[in-house]
Amino acid sequence: MKKYAIITMDVEDWYHTYFPEANVDRSISLLDGLDVALDIMKKDDIHGSFFVVGEIADKLADKLRAMDKEGHDIAVHNCQHLRPVTMAPDEFRSQLLEAKQKIEGILGHQVHGYRAPSFGIDDERLDIVRECGFKYDSSKLKPQKSAKYGVLNLKGFKETVPCIHQTKGFTEFEVSTEKIGDMNMLLGGGYIRMLPWFFMKHMTQKYLDSGKPYVMYIHPIDLSPKPMPKVDGISFDRYLRTHIGRRHMVWRFKKVIEMLKKSGYEFVTFEELLKIYPTEE
Ligand SMILES: [Zn+2]
Repeated sequence: MKKYAIITMDVEDWYHTYFPEANVDRSISLLDGLDVALDIMKKDDIHGSFFVVGEIADKLADKLRAMDKEGHDIAVHNCQHLRPVTMAPDEFRSQLLEAKQKIEGILGHQVHGYRAPSFGIDDERLDIVRECGFKYDSSKLKPQKSAKYGVLNLKGFKETVPCIHQTKGFTEFEVSTEKIGDMNMLLGGGYIRMLPWFFMKHMTQKYLDSGKPYVMYIHPIDLSPKPMPKVDGISFDRYLRTHIGRRHMVWRFKKVIEMLKKSGYEFVTFEELLKIYPTEE
C-alpha cells in the first residue's frame, strides 16, 4: 500500500494562534512564515493543504491565487479563528459561509476543505460543515486530555483507510498523533518546535513505520524569522509556548520532510487524496 504524507498549514497570524481573545498589537505580522514553508516545499516539489482564516484572506489574495495555481489546496479555517464549539450553531454557520465565500471569491472556484481552529469542533457542528458544501474536514484527533479540543464521534462514518473516516460524499482526515502511555500526542505544530528533537524524531519515525497517512500541521509563527511580538502580562506558560524552539524550527521542518522521503512517503494534498480515496456519492 502506498504511503501518503500531507503537509498542512493553518494560515493564521501569531495573535490568532496564541492570543485570539487578547487585545494585542495586530499591526505586527508573522505571516512571512508562510513564505518560508512554501520555499522549503518548493525545493521538493511538495504541495500542501492550507487552511486560511477568512479575515486575513483579502490581504493574502494574490498569494493565495498563486498558490492555488501552483497546485496547493486552499481551504477554510473560519473567519476569525474562533473555536466552533464556543459558537451557537447558527452563528457558526453564518461565519463559516462568510469565510468560504470570501476565499472562493478570491480563487474564483469552490473550495472543499475545512479545519476548525484549535480542533474545537463537535458532531453537531461537523454536520453544519457538510451542509455548507464542504467535502472534507481535518479536525479530528485521537482522544485528548485537554478540554480545549472538541470531540468528534463520527457516527455513520467508516474508517476506510487508517485515520481516514468516510461517509457519503464527505471525508474526515485525522491529524497524526502517536501514543505515549495513555496520551495521544500530536505530531505537528508547536510540538515539533517545543519538544526535544530526539524525542520528536523517535515518535515521528514510530508513526511513519506504521505506514498510515501522515498529516502534519504547522503555523506561520512556527517558521517566521521575525521575533515574537512583546505582549504585556503574558503568563510564563504562554511565554514558553510562544517562544521555545522558534530558532530551530526551520531545520526541524526540513528534517521531517527528509524522514518522510526516506520512509517512502509520497506528498499529496487533501484534495488529491480525495481522488485517491473517493467516497460513495
Ligand atoms: Zn488555527
